[in-house]
Amino acid sequence: MTNMVKLSALSRRKFLAGGAAALATATGLTSISARAAESAPRIVIVGGGAAGISIANRLSRALKNADITVIERKETHYYWPGLTLVATGAWPKSKVLDHNRSFMPSRVNWVKEMAREIDPDAKRVTTDAGRKVDYDYLVVANGVEYHYGAIEGMDINAIGQNGLASVYQSPDAAAKSWDVIKTFSQQGGEGIFTLPSTPIRCAGAPLKMALLTLDRMRQNGGFDKSNMHFHSGTNGLFGIPFHNQFLLDEFANNNTQVNLRSELIAVDVAARQATFRQAEGDTRTQTYDLLHVVPPMRAPEVVRNSNLAWTEGNMAAGGWLAVDKDTLQHMTYPEVFGCGDVNGTPRGKTAATVKMSVPIVVENLLAVIDGRDPSATFDGYTSCPLLTRFGAAMLIEFDYNGNLTPTFPMIDPKKESWMAWIMKDQMLKPAYQQMLRGRV
Ligand SMILES: Cc1cc2nc3c(=O)[nH]c(=O)nc-3n(C[C@H](O)[C@H](O)[C@H](O)COP(=O)(O)OP(=O)(O)OC[C@H]3O[C@@H](n4cnc5c(N)ncnc54)[C@H](O)[C@@H]3O)c2cc1C
Repeated sequence: MTNMVKLSALSRRKFLAGGAAALATATGLTSISARAAESAPRIVIVGGGAAGISIANRLSRALKNADITVIERKETHYYWPGLTLVATGAWPKSKVLDHNRSFMPSRVNWVKEMAREIDPDAKRVTTDAGRKVDYDYLVVANGVEYHYGAIEGMDINAIGQNGLASVYQSPDAAAKSWDVIKTFSQQGGEGIFTLPSTPIRCAGAPLKMALLTLDRMRQNGGFDKSNMHFHSGTNGLFGIPFHNQFLLDEFANNNTQVNLRSELIAVDVAARQATFRQAEGDTRTQTYDLLHVVPPMRAPEVVRNSNLAWTEGNMAAGGWLAVDKDTLQHMTYPEVFGCGDVNGTPRGKTAATVKMSVPIVVENLLAVIDGRDPSATFDGYTSCPLLTRFGAAMLIEFDYNGNLTPTFPMIDPKKESWMAWIMKDQMLKPAYQQMLRGRV
């Protein structure tokens, strides 16, 4: 453990500002031997989203002779963190859409199919087109699966109609969600926001949606004509005690009733009714004019059905990838690493986590290729710009243990600030794109 390295607060700051020095200098990470650098391993990356593309860029620069394959059907790149701004009318949909080809390194084989089966014993990925891709090393980076099907009656095609909103599904759904949120913010009525009990990507997004909708209601006249409800499937609203209390107070002061351990289990879209399972096992049905649904989430099917998923512990139910939380190496297959939302690690399904963990995964994969043990460790860094109203946010950065890890001296993580809003609104997308290119 003594020679393990961690990303410093300094590197995080440089990272977000988009001006990081070269990786090795900024992080103190070691480089690989000339023999490993010249080697030609077959590396497969499943998933070409935030984590997959970023890793492909770094690996293709580090290993000039490697045979790198990215399996990803999607050609359009979604900037997911911008969806909350689309769904609350602050950004146009076009601002969150890009082309994967603009970021994909030219030297990789881009297989535009989906992985259907991963066989880690045979070291082979089979795609939905029947193509078999053998590997020496595998990086699993295929994000999450939205499990809308767990909510009886939920129809993703109805998002944007009949008061039904859901920011998560896609940029299109986010834009349609704004249509119903805008109408509700003018007319008012019964408004419901939900949070499931499963791990979710960006745990702040359901809260940002509620807080920004309340602000739109104040702007557009609906606030005094509404009753608002927030149902959380867990014991709280946010994993950091200070911010959990802040949110409880904020909702109490804004005419929003919070219901804990109350999980959305059914929707009747035509009748505008939502049914919740309460802590005691009872169910409660409420009529609504606006319902914002956050789907339960789990690992994509190809991971859940493979030998790579956790089979015990609290990550087993979602079939999340069984990686060591420090090194991000698979628990039983040393040539396999995980990166991004698919990882069955505590906390941290955010793009900020991806940014900070990609260098760790690359460093450790290079070490394994070099015949060494992985020695870089991840502290679980994640970051949530909690948008509290238009023009204000709290930048909450924390690690696996829930310790606050602020990196900007001028931003207090316990106070709302305009600076934190500007970061979210203007600075994070360029930093994200630099991350995709493997530059920060
Ligand atoms: C509404 C919303 C708001 C958010 N806000 C923030 C924020 O403010 N800050 C922040 O840091 N993060 C935020 N996030 C989270 C952030 O976007 C994710 O954590 C990040 O994108 C995770 O990267 P990833 O590579 O793991 O997943 P993705 O970027 O989703 O990439 C996964 C890729 O895998 C592909 N894939 C899936 N299955 C297969 C398969 N079988 N075969 C091949 N490919 C497959 C998918 O097509 C996808 O392209 C937000 C997310 C959402 C949805």
